[in-house]
Amino acid sequence: MNPVYLDNNATTMVAPEVVEAMLPYLGHWYGNPSSMHSFGGHVGTKLKEARADVAATLGCKPEEVIFTSCGSESDNTAILSALAANPEKRHLVTTRVEHPAVLSLAKHLEEKDYEVTYLAVDEKGRLDLEELARSIRRDTAIVSVMYANNETGTIFPVPEIAALCKARGVLFHTDAVQAVGKVDIDLTKLPVDMLALSGHKLHAPKGVGVLFVRQGTPFRPFLIGGHQERGRRAGTENTAGIIALAAAMKLARENIAAENTQVKALRDRLETGILASVPDSIVNGDLEHRLPNTSSIAFKYVEGEAILLMLDQFGICASSGSACTSGSLEPSHVLRAMGVPFTFAHGSIRFSLSRYTSEADVDLVLETLPGVISTLRRMSPFREDSPPKANCTC
Ligand SMILES: *Cc1c(COP(=O)(O)O)cnc(C)c1O
Repeated sequence: MNPVYLDNNATTMVAPEVVEAMLPYLGHWYGNPSSMHSFGGHVGTKLKEARADVAATLGCKPEEVIFTSCGSESDNTAILSALAANPEKRHLVTTRVEHPAVLSLAKHLEEKDYEVTYLAVDEKGRLDLEELARSIRRDTAIVSVMYANNETGTIFPVPEIAALCKARGVLFHTDAVQAVGKVDIDLTKLPVDMLALSGHKLHAPKGVGVLFVRQGTPFRPFLIGGHQERGRRAGTENTAGIIALAAAMKLARENIAAENTQVKALRDRLETGILASVPDSIVNGDLEHRLPNTSSIAFKYVEGEAILLMLDQFGICASSGSACTSGSLEPSHVLRAMGVPFTFAHGSIRFSLSRYTSEADVDLVLETLPGVISTLRRMSPFREDSPPKANCTC
């Protein structure tokens, strides 16, 4: 079965070119890159090349690239490192719309007696930079703001935020998992101290990520053990994954402009088509500053999960922004932070496209969705504008 896959912010297909690049290192070349023998040494050389390639696509030095297992590990390492390196500073600043890789860690840190400021967003999901500036204190160890939101695609003014933090002398980390490959990022010009990315969001496989740490940034490792990654991340390197990630980043970088134009045209066609054919539907987020591949659309009076189940029967994969999949009545934390009205927030669907999305994929959604929504609205329990009692706290 070949699904119509419009869930690329959850994960992406591994590009065929990337599979080809990594296969020899899953098969024949299984040596340990740290070994003294030339069989491992060959892999070590490839690893070095991959690191140089990743650094070149990001505009940083190879020594500033730490390979990790995923975006979550990179985010966790960045924040925990800042706290460990500045033990006297017990405060951090982040936003209410971060991915759980940052938000759940922040909640966990509050239980460990750290203080966290969660910056609010407006109805379009935008931050108030003056509020951000005011939130920085003498004891702020780190500010962490995502580059682009995974649910709505909203792009934050990270260059400005990074400059602001630099001027105030506070460490700044950005979760750029959704941005790398879709937004032009040049670390020679972007004054962030740390940046996280993840392979499986940009057509590399799962199980590999990067934490960029700018030279001179105080750093404390999260994983302690062997001397890999210059003692900053223990564990035998995921060589095939790293080689794949380098290939995927190169591919994305070389085609970014053309791909963004193509993906955005399809996304806009999908969005315009849905808004025109489904009454009471609105787009969530900041339409001006948005990833070219993402469209979060809210349908009044319907449940996102019900829409997804019906779309699934037509082979269409999308996502609802819901915080949990157990039929919770709580809409996603991102839409709640934006104050999306209850009757809309519940029926929000995220469509996220990729370079592999075709016009036929978009057409199938446009043919299918209006019928799905009107069927569900006929049986909707949410006709009243007052929210039913929420009984799930997940
Ligand atoms: C997917 C995602 C993550 C987590 O990345 P993993 O590699 O799955 O751990 C973090 N932040 C954002 C914005 C994401 O979309």
